[in-house]
Amino acid sequence: MLTHLLRLQELDLKIEACRLREQQIPKQKEKFDIQRKRLAAELESREKVVRDLAVEQRTLQTEIEQKQAQIDKYQQQLYAIKKNEEYQALLHEIDLTKKQIGLKEERIIALMMEMDDAKARLEEDQERIQTELGEIDRQCGVIDAELAEAQADRQKLEEERKPVEALIEPALMTQYKRIRASKKTGPAVVPLRDEVCSGCHMRVTPQIVNEVLAGKKHTCHHCGRLLYSKANVVPNSA
Ligand SMILES: [Zn+2]
Repeated sequence: MLTHLLRLQELDLKIEACRLREQQIPKQKEKFDIQRKRLAAELESREKVVRDLAVEQRTLQTEIEQKQAQIDKYQQQLYAIKKNEEYQALLHEIDLTKKQIGLKEERIIALMMEMDDAKARLEEDQERIQTELGEIDRQCGVIDAELAEAQADRQKLEEERKPVEALIEPALMTQYKRIRASKKTGPAVVPLRDEVCSGCHMRVTPQIVNEVLAGKKHTCHHCGRLLYSKANVVPNSA
């Protein structure tokens, strides 16, 4: 009586396992999303170092140009000065400004070396990050393939269960579906193990045991699952 139903349940439990896999598999990608964000932030910080150095370099160049213009102005003023005292003061000012330019030029040379180092580091990091991202993509691809496989497995099982369901009498099918729905997970039809329901592991009454052994349809009065005796079921060759 229960042979077809047990076959159906076997398929349903496999389908249930596939659904669980389909839910779990995408979660494996969460850590890769975090890694991707971390690598993007790392790359951004390396690029910022190079950008900041370039900004400092441009600022210094502008300042040098301004100081140079100031010196040109002072030199024009020199021609108009009559008093030696003022002349000396302005020469001193020009000298001071030239020294300031000199310091800024030194800083620019140091910056160029820093820039070379920073660019070399950035290049190395870009290469490494690209490799890491490639590996992440590869692993995500493996996960996607696994998901596709679980989906294909489930679709195959769902096709397989249709003709089996057609063999089961509607009333029994309704009862089975109701138990499955109420239990959410796991089997709805369970074997008796001696006098114990293997669904809830509770002892059932001797009368129920006798009826089940006699091949009658009976549910466990503790958990409501359908009971059967393994002795009554012809082993399924499928
Ligand atoms: Zn039970």
